[in-house]
Amino acid sequence: MHIHAINLPQFVIVGPNVLPKIKEVLSRLIVREDVLLLRGEGFTKTPASAVRDFVAEMGLTAHEVAVKSPTEEVVSFVEGVIKETRSCTIISVGGGKIIDVAKIASHRQGIPFISIPTSAAHDGIASPIASIKGENGSASIMAHPPVALLADTNIIASSPKRFIISGCGDIIAKLTAVRDWRLAHRLRGEYYGEYAASLALMSAQLIRRNVDLIARGLEAGVRTVIEGLISCGYAMCIAGSSRPCSGSEHLFSHALDKLGKGSRALHGEKCGVGTIMMMYMHGGDWESVRAVLSRAGAPTTAKGLGLSDDDVLDALTIAHTIRPERYTILGESGISRNAAEDLARMTGVID
Ligand SMILES: [Zn+2]
Repeated sequence: MHIHAINLPQFVIVGPNVLPKIKEVLSRLIVREDVLLLRGEGFTKTPASAVRDFVAEMGLTAHEVAVKSPTEEVVSFVEGVIKETRSCTIISVGGGKIIDVAKIASHRQGIPFISIPTSAAHDGIASPIASIKGENGSASIMAHPPVALLADTNIIASSPKRFIISGCGDIIAKLTAVRDWRLAHRLRGEYYGEYAASLALMSAQLIRRNVDLIARGLEAGVRTVIEGLISCGYAMCIAGSSRPCSGSEHLFSHALDKLGKGSRALHGEKCGVGTIMMMYMHGGDWESVRAVLSRAGAPTTAKGLGLSDDDVLDALTIAHTIRPERYTILGESGISRNAAEDLARMTGVID
């Protein structure tokens, strides 16, 4: 019989100035030994040192490691520090790459991690899935979700606005990700969970309804994006995979990465443009997808992503090869260059 295990974060705290809540979280998690604090090298230093002080106030020691990039070597190094310092919990203060390293290293060492995101650029903040750079590009690894998540809306609102808009793109992507999932269920008999799918779609609707608030950069808008991203993380925890949140639009984004194109564009920005095109492929309302992204201030064209027309067409024609086991609207053989050109032109992604 198929056993479906769901692992969810225990504590989720969202709001302004929530960092002091780390003390309450640590005491409710009964953390009594050393912790390992992972942070970035830039502006995450300040919130990380505030967290270290709060940890010290509890009589606990926080060992600190600055993370540069999410590579296997860095993960191994962090695992070594966990063993050496006998840390029982990781607290990650930073954006996606720091969360990814914390997620994988803590999972491999069998200890929990607490996520304190400093930006809201993609849905990794509450998901069990991490992305790591290896010899053959980036790979997605199933790890575990944070045991607790403290999202300080003041800190996240002070990150570049572009990050928050990228988060919107990653959430809007669920509109086609769920369609791809349903398709794989109908054509391939793949497991499909209505509840996880609904959670992912609900996040996209939330963005659609509040897009003006988000575009104005108000705290309430930032909160909407964070809550949407957390909800997407829950959808992945419940589905036990990234299926509800990652379909053909993500394959397009990953294809660009594989081709070494669009490195100036953020993940959610590329997925947003991918969603416009994949919604067209699905025969859905791609114009409303484009309108929401445009109102949020997200790019909707190749130029907006810093890409040439050929970059987009190259990525579209190889997208189906990126993750062959993930069945999407692109099918097994993908789309021809002519069809890709029609698609990109029709949707206004290329001129
Ligand atoms: Zn994504």
